Amino acid sequence: MSAAELKPAVQEADEWRTAQAQFDEAAELIRLEPWLREVLREVQREFTCTFPVKLDNESIRMFTGYRVQHNINRGPAKGGIRYHPDVSLNEVKALAMWMTWKCAVVNIPFGGAKGGIIVNPRELSLNELEHMTRRFATEISILIGHDRDIPAPDVNTDGQTMAWIMDTLSMHLGYSSPASVTGKPIEVGGSLGRIEATGRGVTITSVAALEHLGRNPHQTRVAVQGFGNVGSISARLLEEAGCTIVAVSEDYGGIHNPLGLSIKRVLEYRAREKTLNGFPGSQPIGNQELLSVDCDLLVPAAIGNQLTSRNARDVKAKLIVEGANGPTTPEADAIFRERGIFLVPDILANAGGVTVSYFEWVQDLQSFFWSEHEVNQKLKAIMTRAFAEVLNTREEKKLDMRMAAYVQAVSRVAAATRERGLYP
Ligand code: NAD
Repeated sequence: MSAAELKPAVQEADEWRTAQAQFDEAAELIRLEPWLREVLREVQREFTCTFPVKLDNESIRMFTGYRVQHNINRGPAKGGIRYHPDVSLNEVKALAMWMTWKCAVVNIPFGGAKGGIIVNPRELSLNELEHMTRRFATEISILIGHDRDIPAPDVNTDGQTMAWIMDTLSMHLGYSSPASVTGKPIEVGGSLGRIEATGRGVTITSVAALEHLGRNPHQTRVAVQGFGNVGSISARLLEEAGCTIVAVSEDYGGIHNPLGLSIKRVLEYRAREKTLNGFPGSQPIGNQELLSVDCDLLVPAAIGNQLTSRNARDVKAKLIVEGANGPTTPEADAIFRERGIFLVPDILANAGGVTVSYFEWVQDLQSFFWSEHEVNQKLKAIMTRAFAEVLNTREEKKLDMRMAAYVQAVSRVAAATRERGLYP
């Protein structure tokens, strides 16, 4: 057993440690000045709030939430809000830092932020969710706004959550402020194409990676972990691009068919039965088992820390495209590098969401809305260019794709920070 495999899982699973380790490696590669290393390896602002919500049975429950801004030198802070029982300050800090790099990789004028509440939203009624969301929006209203920090959906939050946040902020202001939040429903200033944007970006980068590897999408078998916004849309669009989807899963497990699953039918089945279990013609598959299923392309699109030193050697796919944020620990990354697996990192692969969030923000500020075709075309142009730039850096500097993306991103953020200089 290697040293990496002996490391305690707790340490390996600390996202903030992962984020800082990735940054340190990139900072070393570009010989970043020591003062910039110190600035960029920390978050600029971290905010914790503990707040009460009255439940339907009139009892009061306390919740803890976070909003973290990592860096705002290239523009307002941008990042999603997550509702999950495992949310922690360290996780939110890492996600905020990754947002800074993600916006810089695709070169959109935002800094990085993230937020979250420690909650299992399935335990709350819709009414309770709305009250919790509106109270959290009030708590973080001292930080957020269209020119300061702009939230978006993430795990277990959606357009409805964003509409409640936008409405709460607007009520405080006394006028509507649609540009203060993205991922909103179309009726309140959302952008066409935003719901599909992250999965579309995953598909664009997957197809670009397959092309680079000289592989035909029509001969590519795909496994997707997570069948939420990112996972289900990636699966549908990859299928449209010609791939065969052999396995998909949710938190309770998933389904497998080596001959291929019809994603359209799986979506219809899940909408009807509220589960993937029992989909005709499929065999059940565990979440961990899915990661090592026989396939060519693996898309982790659920939560962080899924690919670790414990399972990285079992992965059969030769291509991994990270739909989720932080699905791979540094230990697993090292194993993938050693095994010659081509990995498209989260900060590039799932940047389609924040890119169309940027389009939504621009449209809201101008009150001038684009067609879905225009949104998708502009998204494709940005994702394709970013993929090509990262690939170039990879080849020029003999790096893996993650470090190449980091080199691009950290160089851009460092340049902005350097040029702005130190205040006061
Ligand atoms: P979602 O809530 O819509 O879906 C999450 C999915 O993951 C669900 O299918 C859920 O069942 C599954 N899941 C949860 N825990 C799991 C576990 N332990 N094992 C397997 N599956 C599990 O969330 P989403 O918006 O699709 O986000 C998924 C990932 O993509 C997250 O890492 C998120 O940060 C990242 N991401 C999302 C966006 C976006 O625009 N929504 C953008 C960039 C990155």
